[in-house]
Parts: sequence; C-alpha cells; structure tokens
Amino acid sequence: MQYSEIMVRHGELSTKGKNRMRFITKLKRNIEDVLAIYPNVAVRSDRDRTHVLLNGTDYEPVLESLKLVFGIQALSPVYKIEKSVPDLIAAVQTIMTDLYYDGLSFKISSKRSDHQFELDSRDLNQTLGGAVFEALPKIKAQMKNPDINLKVEIRDEAAYISHEDIKGAGGLPVGTSGKGMLMLSGGIDSPVAGYLSLKRGMDIEAVHFASPPYTSPGALKKAQDLTQALTRFGGNIQFIEVPFTEIQEEIKSKAPEAYLMTLTRRFMMRITDALREKRAALVIINGESLGQVASQTLESMQAINAVTSTPIIRPVVTMDKLEIIDIAQKINTFDISIQPFEDCCTIFAPDRPKTNPKLANVEKYEERFDIEGLVQRAVEGVIITEITPDSKEDTISELINDIL
Ligand code: ATP
Ligand code: MG
Repeated sequence: MQYSEIMVRHGELSTKGKNRMRFITKLKRNIEDVLAIYPNVAVRSDRDRTHVLLNGTDYEPVLESLKLVFGIQALSPVYKIEKSVPDLIAAVQTIMTDLYYDGLSFKISSKRSDHQFELDSRDLNQTLGGAVFEALPKIKAQMKNPDINLKVEIRDEAAYISHEDIKGAGGLPVGTSGKGMLMLSGGIDSPVAGYLSLKRGMDIEAVHFASPPYTSPGALKKAQDLTQALTRFGGNIQFIEVPFTEIQEEIKSKAPEAYLMTLTRRFMMRITDALREKRAALVIINGESLGQVASQTLESMQAINAVTSTPIIRPVVTMDKLEIIDIAQKINTFDISIQPFEDCCTIFAPDRPKTNPKLANVEKYEERFDIEGLVQRAVEGVIITEITPDSKEDTISELINDIL
C-alpha cells in the first residue's frame, strides 16, 4: 500500500498563543517552497496539523526534504482510508502483511475524534486487532513496546493509519522572527551563521559583495550555491549581488595598507545597512568569529560596527573553527565553501591587517572618500535573484536536532 500523505506536527509554535495561525501559515508557505521540487505534492494546514498530500509522489524523498524544515516537531507518513469498518479492516490487514516478519509484535492504538463513528476506540482496537490475527495467525500482540504500533485515527473527514513517528528539525518556522540581512561570503562561517539564524525563525536575504573582474564568476556561483543549500531549511531566499569593484579599487589606491580591511568592512556594513533599510529587515547577520583571523578582534569589530546602530547578530562569534566546520559539514555547505574561488576580501587583503584599528585614524582616512556616493552607487547597482531549492536529491543523514 502507498502512503497518501505525510502528517506534520507543529513544533514550538504551538505554544505561541494568538500568533499560532500566523506561525502555521508561515510554516505552510515554507513547506510549499521547499516541496516545490515535487510538482504533484499539495500542502494543507489546519490548527493542529499540516498535511502534505503526496498525490502519487514517492514519500521517501519528500520526507527527507521535510526533515530539514524548521518549525516541524514530528512527521508521520499516513494512509488515508474511507471511514468504513470494512475499508479499515482491509487496510490494517494489507499494511501488517506488508510489514510482517517472523516474531513480529504489534498493537493497535485507535483514537476517535469523530464521535459519530460507529465504533469507539476500544471496539476499534478489538475489531482491527482481530482482523490482523485473522490475516496473520502467528503475529504476537504486545501492549508494551511492540515492534509496530499501528495508530488509527478517526477524524471528521477520513480515517488515518500510521506507524512511524519521525523527529522533525525543531526550531521555529523561518520568517516568524522577522528578517535579517546575511552578509554571505563564499567562506565556511557565514553560511553556518545563516543556518543558525534560520533555525530561530529569522528570514534571511543573502548579501554578497563581488568585485569582478578581480573575483571570478565561480566565486559568485559558490555564494549562490551556498544560498541554495540554505533554502532547504525554510524556503526561497533573495540573493543580492552588490557591485564592489569601484569601492575596492578606491580603497586600495587611497588608504594605507594596514587599514584596507577595516575600511572595506565598514563600506560593506554601510551598504548592507542601506539595503536592510530599503528592504525592511531588522538586523544584520555575519559570520565573524572571534580571533579566527587577525582581522577578527574585538577592537576590529568595534571599529567596523561603529558605522551603524543596527543590531548585528554574529551566531558563530564564540565558536571554535572546528565547531563551525562540524556544522558546515552536517548541513552540506562545507564542500561548497572549500571550492577554491577567491572572494573580494582575499584578493584585496593586506599581508598585515591592523588588529587594533583606531577609530580616529579610520575616520581620518575616510575623509578621502565620497562615502555617500560610493554607497549609493553600490546600492543602486545590486542584482537581486530569488534562489529556490535544488531539485536534485541530496539528503542529510542526521537530524538537524542532533547537530548542536
Ligand atoms: P567566512 O567564512 O564567512 O568568509 P571568514 O572567517 O572568512 O568568514 P572574513 O573574511 O573576515 O571571515 O569575513 C567576516 C564576515 O564578513 C563574513 O563571515 C561575512 O559575514 C562577511 N563577508 C566577508 N566577505 C564578504 C563578501 N564578499 N560578501 C558578503 N559578506 C562578506
Ligand atoms: Mg571569508
């Protein structure tokens, strides 16, 4: 027998009182984005559950995709059956015969939310249990820890049978905590920062600074592929490519070597903040990690941060590189990140960036630039594309819950 749908139980959102419907609607839309790669699948939500209707699609890849979506607590593939006793009997017999092996133990757990139905849950357990024995006389009934717990649910619209409960990704549905601009390089850290933000329900837009011809189309593609890897957790993501060549050339020609990095980062921050305001996001997210490279000191963060009062979220700031790599591997971004395409920062990077840049110096050097004009031209020159999940099957072996 073929599963007809996958039943989705909502996660933390069920505790959110009057926001509940808003959360469910968001989760439904995210699931639709993620499952758009399966054209026949349809999604329907009610207060308690979201139903993913398979319409003939093989359930396994759909289940793998759903396991990654934040805001889902648990998943059960289910058979939808006509609400009639003979149909239910035929169904449990077929299902148990398919699952049967020597020594298999089972029980039936019925639940009746449609109280008009002719049998109550006790009668149902007995009738359906008896039908299983009739088909498989050697099967064992076992109330405690049976191999198969066949759950039969009589609801208003139909009856549902399931026997698998699969843990979902947990977290909050993407978009229920507001939007942040993710500064996404091609490195290992920023995609992990993006993933962790999605986990707590933030919607993200990816901002990527490109400096052609110094940076290659390969570097841009890599950032887009990383963005695509992040769409699996909550749906489509806007990718914003920022033209950064003019600014990098100016900095290179006008500022002292030791301050290149600080000035570059301050421009990136200003541009990201301008985009944030224009696109109604609340915060900026980046992949800075303390002490990882000479440029990522607290002094440096302070000098870069000084251009804005917008909150900057740094999800990986206190993690060791190995901890970040561990997550990157589990979310399948690591192999993309280590492709050898240099991004704009590596190419223009000075040999010895200042580890304790002085704000007074930074501001003095910046007097040499038309900051407003440069920022404005970059913001006006952005190219925005919507990135959607990839249709090729790549599954993640471990549950997201187990990553941290
Ligand atoms: P990552 O692994 O994310 O590249 P990193 O350890 O290489 O981080 P840096 O190169 O110092 O660190 O960059 C710090 C942060 O600045 C990045 O995590 C990212 O958020 C942002 N950033 C750097 N380069 C770019 C870029 N080309 N486009 C967008 N954001 C960038
Ligand atoms: Mg980097």
